Amino acid sequence: METHFFFVEQSPLCQQTILPVLLSEVSSRSSASAFRYCRHCLGSEDDIQSKFVESQFTLRTDERHSYHCDVLDRQDLSSADKQHFSLVYGVNRRALLHTLSYFSVASGALIPDIMHDVLEGALPLEVKLMLKVFVIDKKLFSLTFIDDGFKKLNLRSFDGDKPSTLSGVSLTSCDSNLHQHAMQMWTLARFLSLVIGHLIPEDDKHWENFLCLLDIIDILFSHSVADDAIGYLEALISDHHSTFLELYPDTQITMKMHSIVHMPRLTKEYGPLINHWTTRFEAKHKYFKHLANVMGNFTNICFSLALRHQMHQCYLSLNTDSLPGEEVEIGPGKNSSCIYTTSVELNRCSSIYFIF
Ligand SMILES: [Zn+2]
Repeated sequence: METHFFFVEQSPLCQQTILPVLLSEVSSRSSASAFRYCRHCLGSEDDIQSKFVESQFTLRTDERHSYHCDVLDRQDLSSADKQHFSLVYGVNRRALLHTLSYFSVASGALIPDIMHDVLEGALPLEVKLMLKVFVIDKKLFSLTFIDDGFKKLNLRSFDGDKPSTLSGVSLTSCDSNLHQHAMQMWTLARFLSLVIGHLIPEDDKHWENFLCLLDIIDILFSHSVADDAIGYLEALISDHHSTFLELYPDTQITMKMHSIVHMPRLTKEYGPLINHWTTRFEAKHKYFKHLANVMGNFTNICFSLALRHQMHQCYLSLNTDSLPGEEVEIGPGKNSSCIYTTSVELNRCSSIYFIF
């Protein structure tokens, strides 16, 4: 792996987008049940509930991670001692990846995913708690009013991402979500003020805290973040988390909310985090999951998916004028001549491609 690597000249982000995501899945870092469970720092549960600025935490570094791995490799320690050490520091074992010269398990693979941490973490939790206060406690409006309001909005450009109907069950359930997928949640949050904003009393603390979270999201999901905005983002996150605990004393700062505390520094180090989110990967994965169900053929699933995918890409390419035929470079495949099939012919036989 050290001697064979790839570099996409036109898209340098591919190096940092694909590798950290893949490698973070196979490295041997902290587990959720550990005392210090954060992947980025050595903060305890008490620290995470009371500190909201990254400089107040001791970060995981290569040196510290190496020390933890050395302790776990010691022969003079009993397995019980090692297990205890592992639970305290959240390191399970020395990963093979940690032996690489040019890759850091402690910092190189730790880019957080804003889709999971924000759109599927902090945002649904806060919206759910806030709506509970407005709908059940203060009785400012009903869930039906919100649903009707969204139906009246012209959200044609958000077709696949329109929020699902909000139910009383999802609002009162013990979990921390509103049964919306990530992009639905993003749409719901962005347009919520148009639906209920005029009914919220001025200076309402719950509403202000929600707007603060929207400000944080605006910066985190930007494709360009100025250096000056990093400090402002830190202050926003600190204000938001501390006020969140005051407004919702029965709720705790979740792991995903704590992860946001590390995002300003990581944005500075790796660039806008939206360039590293996993939404595009998940969208592509969704296509293959759907295809597997449609085919119902699992004899050689990898081959079947690859073939169907390539056929589909071929169909899409030849149905546009973006690929001039004489400039297309093709491999030595047996049926490579089919590349030159005109889009009309392909249209005619496209049904064949989609049924095997
Ligand atoms: Zn942390």
